[in-house]
Amino acid sequence: MTVPRRRRGWQCVAALSISGALLLPSFVVPQGSHGHSPRLLRRASDRSDESSTLGLSVLIAGAGPAGLLLADRLLSAGCSVHIVEARQDPRSGSLEGRAYALGLGLRAQQTIRTVDDKLWETIKPSGFASERFKLHLSPKIAIDLRTPEDNNGLEPSLLIYQSDLCSAMLDHLETNFGGSGRLRISFQSRLKFLNAATGAASVQKGEQLEELPSADLVAGCDGVNSAVRSSIAAACPAFEVAQTKLPGSFKVLRFPQMPSELDPTAVHLFTGKGGTSAFIEPTARGACALINWRDGVNVQELPSLGELQDPEEARETLSSYFPAIAEAITDDAGKQFVSQKASQASTVKCNTYHFGRAVLLGDAAHSTGGVSGQGCSSAMKDSVVLAELLQREVGGAKRDTLEVLSMYSRQQVPEGHALLDLSLGPSEKAGPLRKALYNAASLAGTLLSKLGIGDPPLQTLLTTSLTPFSDIRRDRDFFFGEFPQQEEFDSMIERASTPS
Ligand SMILES: Cc1cc2nc3c(=O)[nH]c(=O)nc-3n(C[C@H](O)[C@H](O)[C@H](O)COP(=O)(O)OP(=O)(O)OC[C@H]3O[C@@H](n4cnc5c(N)ncnc54)[C@H](O)[C@@H]3O)c2cc1C
Repeated sequence: MTVPRRRRGWQCVAALSISGALLLPSFVVPQGSHGHSPRLLRRASDRSDESSTLGLSVLIAGAGPAGLLLADRLLSAGCSVHIVEARQDPRSGSLEGRAYALGLGLRAQQTIRTVDDKLWETIKPSGFASERFKLHLSPKIAIDLRTPEDNNGLEPSLLIYQSDLCSAMLDHLETNFGGSGRLRISFQSRLKFLNAATGAASVQKGEQLEELPSADLVAGCDGVNSAVRSSIAAACPAFEVAQTKLPGSFKVLRFPQMPSELDPTAVHLFTGKGGTSAFIEPTARGACALINWRDGVNVQELPSLGELQDPEEARETLSSYFPAIAEAITDDAGKQFVSQKASQASTVKCNTYHFGRAVLLGDAAHSTGGVSGQGCSSAMKDSVVLAELLQREVGGAKRDTLEVLSMYSRQQVPEGHALLDLSLGPSEKAGPLRKALYNAASLAGTLLSKLGIGDPPLQTLLTTSLTPFSDIRRDRDFFFGEFPQQEEFDSMIERASTPS
């Protein structure tokens, strides 16, 4: 699957920007080039050089994709793992109101396969494999941005609810390590306190606060509002985090099946009036729709979607914004819409991912708020990188764990920063001309690549290649401004992770 990296990086899908925030699942564009980085992922069968046993005790906060994949990899390496998860076991609950199916493309599939092929086979039946994406510019005009012909032999993206993904990963963990005596999972247990320097922590379960013994390593896989990150911020004056709310709000509707007038195997993006949008996806349990809007933006006589309180009014208004799917907007959809609290996604950017015994992975370390649809794959990639570094450098080369956390930050911070840049497009600093050029080039590139002309669009590289995000970002310096060199990241991380 090795294809030379593309050098001309001006073709992206920024033109699909919605509500100022592009909530873009990772299956949306044609597949084409498959760059490959040698420092990326190795499958389980290729890991014979990492066979040294790790005897670390690891506390993992958060049983999302990052935490569960890390647990699997560290347990295979010989660690003892305690996972604390604030929510209940996803296998015992129904889908939460705003649950939306994630698109797992090549990167996510590859990270999962580093555990073993069985894990991917366990996950697959809980999702819906889709190779089609349609962009509807109006009720009558639609462009096929991805078709099976674009797939070049790759597996289709899997559309799967986060809770279904986590359920399958939990099953795999318990089957393989449930009897090992090295795995403990505490659900409905929220990490409340962590001393990042010593690894001492406490968790709250109901009314009870449990003190945990100091762990050798505490992995913050606890999402955008990470408690582990807060403990690092409290302990380390040089640590910096920018958590920024994205413009726009969203709610999720679930339908028993795909609306009958839509291709039931495709993902559909409808752009509505006033910067609204609806992503409609088939899932293994029917269909779901992510509805985005800008608060305070009213279109003609229509109320803003954020103001709706009456189910009947919601049904009518949603049908007016998205006439092509009016048939699916039933009374039940109206009720779902008004009963759900609107969500706002946020981005997270940190200047280092470790301090003391604590380390950040996934959305806790870097979040794009769903923009560009790479959050899950990049979260799981962090887990694979950290587990492989620990196994090789601590287990094999007998390096100090803290030194290895620094190696992890040096490898993954540039990736997190690059993905955020690529997701949001050129910042204000780039100036209006470059931003306009970028948007025009992105739209032209996307359309031309459908005719087989030019390089594949950005989203193709993100979804269907293993090229590091930092390389893809550096190829776009003309639009974004210069991306820092590795040495600059190294010195920033060293400064940021040092206690004063
Ligand atoms: C609308 C939307 C669409 C998206 N679409 C895609 C997509 O198509 N493809 C994709 O790859 N990504 C997508 N993403 C992003 C993706 O959901 C996240 O990047 C991914 O889930 C991050 O995984 P994680 O394990 O780091 O964190 P999470 O999945 O957020 O898991 C964190 C876990 O930690 C738990 N937790 C939180 N605080 C504590 C605490 N104090 N103690 C214990 N446990 C705690 C939480 O309950 C949760 O289970 C989307 C996101 C949004 C919002």
